Amino acid sequence: MGRTPLDSWLAGRMDRDTVPTVSELHGWLLERLKELVDHARHGSPFYRRHLADARGTDITSLEDFARLPIIASEQLRSNPDGLLSVSRDEIERVVTLSSSGTTGEPKRIFHTADDLEATTDFFSWGMANMVEPGGTALVLLPGARPGGVGQLLNAALSRHGSRAVAVGELTDAGAAVDHCLAENATCVVGSPAHVNLLAHAWEARGLPKGAIRSVLLCWDVIPDAVRKSVAERLGCRVFRHWGMIETGLGGAVECSPGSGMHLRETDVYVEIVDPRTGALLPDGEFGDMVVTTPLKMGMPIIRYRTGDVGRILAGECACGSPLRRLDPLVRRRQDSVPLPSGPLALRELNEILYGVPGLADFAARLDEDTLYLTVCGRVARETVLDALKRLPVVAQGLADGSLGVEIENRHAAAPAVPGLEKRRIVIGS
Ligand SMILES: [Zn+2]
Repeated sequence: MGRTPLDSWLAGRMDRDTVPTVSELHGWLLERLKELVDHARHGSPFYRRHLADARGTDITSLEDFARLPIIASEQLRSNPDGLLSVSRDEIERVVTLSSSGTTGEPKRIFHTADDLEATTDFFSWGMANMVEPGGTALVLLPGARPGGVGQLLNAALSRHGSRAVAVGELTDAGAAVDHCLAENATCVVGSPAHVNLLAHAWEARGLPKGAIRSVLLCWDVIPDAVRKSVAERLGCRVFRHWGMIETGLGGAVECSPGSGMHLRETDVYVEIVDPRTGALLPDGEFGDMVVTTPLKMGMPIIRYRTGDVGRILAGECACGSPLRRLDPLVRRRQDSVPLPSGPLALRELNEILYGVPGLADFAARLDEDTLYLTVCGRVARETVLDALKRLPVVAQGLADGSLGVEIENRHAAAPAVPGLEKRRIVIGS
């Protein structure tokens, strides 16, 4: 078997000629984690307190590392500067992250030039089998800002002789299709909802399947119904990605459609822990995702609870990579709203509604005892209501009168939720 792009990236990132075995990778990671703990304790007052009892030399296994205390997301909001472990001169970019669905101060994340270069390098290899040399990827994400994701992607793709055109988040699906045609794009990168809208518009115009050859879904949770919808309407290969601004973007990517997402383990070390006890969980079991950035020296993240729930897929990938794989069906810990008949989870609503033929996008809001849905696409309200009733918690609420449902169809080729805010079920008016 030839060396895959991810293998090439991994060997380069570990500064070695050959692709490591799993145990070589884990041995290397352990050394980096020990160094990181000492570096953070040396450079950051917060870590000196937080890791008061930890010394790199005392950590002799990844299980030892898993006993270090966890950082809650509140820390990144209340005192992000406390995590800085280098002088401010070395910081290239500060990202202010407003996390949707929560209150309080937004998180500020610091990246050094090395951090951004590492992300660009990972993007360049991670996308090598999605965009051929000379090809163009249309990126439905912000592009203008230096260090922004569009610029990083363009820098990345140019290393393999292709290019990215970042046109910003989708506001009109027809315009996005026009962009694709004008740029002769063979790859599209964007949030699941936005790429799904583009796919519906593409199909509605009778454009040929297979002209867009690959899609990368990223930015938000990825409903399986959207993956299927996009693959069918565009006739393309669909890859999935998971990442966080906290870790410098670029967290995990599929090597082929359906493979599971290979973690960028040199830079984003993921542990899956029991939400109650914090104990490490074995591969195959869902739990809280806790991340560490082994090579991020400016603002190291050490055992940060992401708020995501996920699992590591057991066994080896067909590509032979030593990198562990994240199940693409990552979800947020808090994605439910309370109905009188029980909790309604966004992930369930996503799978039901994005699976309705013709429904391109939706927004959901719960106000007292009524669920308001705004849907976009060529679909009748009765069809949407019938689909909703397949959710037991909705069927029960409608049957016992504790829940009302109002459905409005905008028929628009524009997102039901403007912008790139992470999708959620809104509570209140
Ligand atoms: Zn693979």
